[in-house]
Amino acid sequence: MKEKILIVEDEKDIVKMLEYNLKKEGFKTLSDRNGEDALDSAKKEHPDLVVLDLMLPGMDGFEVCKALKADSKTSAIPIIMLTAKSQESDKVVGLELGADDYVTKPFSPRELVARIKAVLRRAKEKDKLPPIIKVGGLTVDLSKIEVAVKGKPVELTSKEFELLKTLIKARGRVLSRDYLLDAIWGFDQAAEIQTRTVDVHVRTLRKKLKGEAERNVTVKNYGYRFDDEE
Ligand code: CA
Repeated sequence: MKEKILIVEDEKDIVKMLEYNLKKEGFKTLSDRNGEDALDSAKKEHPDLVVLDLMLPGMDGFEVCKALKADSKTSAIPIIMLTAKSQESDKVVGLELGADDYVTKPFSPRELVARIKAVLRRAKEKDKLPPIIKVGGLTVDLSKIEVAVKGKPVELTSKEFELLKTLIKARGRVLSRDYLLDAIWGFDQAAEIQTRTVDVHVRTLRKKLKGEAERNVTVKNYGYRFDDEE
């Protein structure tokens, strides 16, 4: 089956150039010229990847990225951000918001196609989680729902286990509080009081996992991230 790429860009020439090159490489393409339409398309069309320009009329690329990552229907879709700016800070913000990669304009179509293929390959590998995950002293058995730190079993509540599993699945990416609330508690519209639920659970989870989780479950302004580097 052909993989579907959603291009979000208001500059017609760039869209045309991307469509031409992606189709030549065997991809299906869709395109939107603004963020609002892109959010609708992402929900309805389930693209395999989004190429997202930072400079858009209305919502900018960062806002679109944040909205895609906060919705459990679209949060797993990999995002490559495009921008004319080469500032390091934009790159950091984009990656913190959950973008998978970053290409600076002007870019060659070949370079972007290569990045798209690499991100899609990584996304597929991420889908296949081994039943037992070992990071440092932390062992998580996803099939038996057991967690151990340095060989000693740790009792987690079902929500704490879900939280840990969700973070591990997304390893390396920051998950927002809104996303975690929706994915684990099923709240759609998060109120302030509810997002605090996530903070409380992360705090108890980190406490139970002791030193291991302090290293691996990191707190970001925007949400939480699991790092699998030892
Ligand atoms: Ca643009």
